[in-house]
Amino acid sequence: MDIDTAVIAHRGASGYLPEHTREAKMLAYGQGADFLEQDVVATRDGQLVVLHDIHLDEVTNVAERFGDRRRPDGHHYVIDFDLAELRTLEIVERRQPGSSRRARDGRFADDAVAFRIVTLDEEIRLIRELNRTTGRDVGLYPEIKRPDWHHRHGFDLAGALLAALDTYGYAAPDQRVFVQCFDSAELRRCREELGTRLRLVQLTENADVLTTETLGRIAQYADVVAPHYSQLVTRLHGHPAAAPLVEQIRARGLGLHTYTLRRDDPAVGGSGFERLLEVLYTVAGLDGIFCDHPDVAVRVRARLRGGDEAP
Ligand code: CA
Repeated sequence: MDIDTAVIAHRGASGYLPEHTREAKMLAYGQGADFLEQDVVATRDGQLVVLHDIHLDEVTNVAERFGDRRRPDGHHYVIDFDLAELRTLEIVERRQPGSSRRARDGRFADDAVAFRIVTLDEEIRLIRELNRTTGRDVGLYPEIKRPDWHHRHGFDLAGALLAALDTYGYAAPDQRVFVQCFDSAELRRCREELGTRLRLVQLTENADVLTTETLGRIAQYADVVAPHYSQLVTRLHGHPAAAPLVEQIRARGLGLHTYTLRRDDPAVGGSGFERLLEVLYTVAGLDGIFCDHPDVAVRVRARLRGGDEAP
């Protein structure tokens, strides 16, 4: 079966190791992911670091080290710290907000293992050099996190990210890089004002209603739209089938990526995970899929391509 879906390692192999650590990225690389995701936020001294949140509280020991640097809302924000300070922190497995409980039971549990915050520069260099030594071409998939927040703090995150990519020679649309953002005005700005030629991915919220009109607007500046997977599959005569949205996206000439597949998602259930992957690969015609467990996504894809266990 001809399956042409790229596996995007969501925050690395985050199902197995704390998200956005170098270790999680390297595991994903070794597991055969086609792209590694970088969520990008800025420090006080204008450095770009790879972290999912604009604050540090749920994935680092910042409260222990810099307890007096929290804002009135209780959070320690990345943009209030210099890179040298962030270098002294340790990353741990994600916690539930305001709690010491891990967000997902069963994930990496040993807080004594020291993981560090990674800069975007370090991650690009690592992937680039690994691509050279392995002969592979694993791509970058950076996300502009909360551009509005960064603008309010006087920092143009999109501009800085595109400049950083340009420094490493990522500027052409046929290169192995996608730039993603939920903020449609900022993504449009990347194309029209900042003039990037890189492929742009419009992420959409789960509850967003995507009409032919909104998709038409997205197609003016973006190459790919990435809705939540639950919006892409429906049932027809008792069998899974592509939702009408899939055809509407294709009709606009847009690529289709989706997020986020997790083996330990309670809504999916253990054995249901591989079945869900099979359905998404075979009925939705995806171009890319974000997954916390890239090894499983790669394995299911290989099985479908081999045809031995096609649904
Ligand atoms: Ca992301």
